[in-house]
Amino acid sequence: MSATPYTASCLCGGVQLALTAEPGPIFLCHCGMCRKAQGGPFAAQAKLPASALSVTQGTELLSRYASSPGCERVFCGRCGSPLFATRADEPESVRLRVGIVDGVLRARPSAHHYVGFMAGWWRLDDQLLRFETE
Ligand SMILES: [Zn+2]
Ligand SMILES: [Zn+2]
Repeated sequence: MSATPYTASCLCGGVQLALTAEPGPIFLCHCGMCRKAQGGPFAAQAKLPASALSVTQGTELLSRYASSPGCERVFCGRCGSPLFATRADEPESVRLRVGIVDGVLRARPSAHHYVGFMAGWWRLDDQLLRFETE
């Protein structure tokens, strides 16, 4: 098995990431901030050890937005792709936006988070776990 199971990249390709660990189960966050940040019904994300994520190209393009105290959303400053988020109270991991991964992740969706904030036009019709918070 390769030391780099996955690569990930932004829309313009300027930011290239390498993942050296398998991301955790995917969770779908319906909170209002994630919906705004993605421009979609939810943010599909998975936790990954911070040490397992490296930026192999485009460090200068990384932009950060602190959407709440201690929480930074990192995105490509050129094309706007959401990349990952970091939390001051959880420095050992990052929350990868899994849509940017090249290839097929082994992880599968496990849960919906913040379902009380779900877009009114979306419908949950799967059997995944549902949480009011995280
Ligand atoms: Zn980009
Ligand atoms: Zn969220």
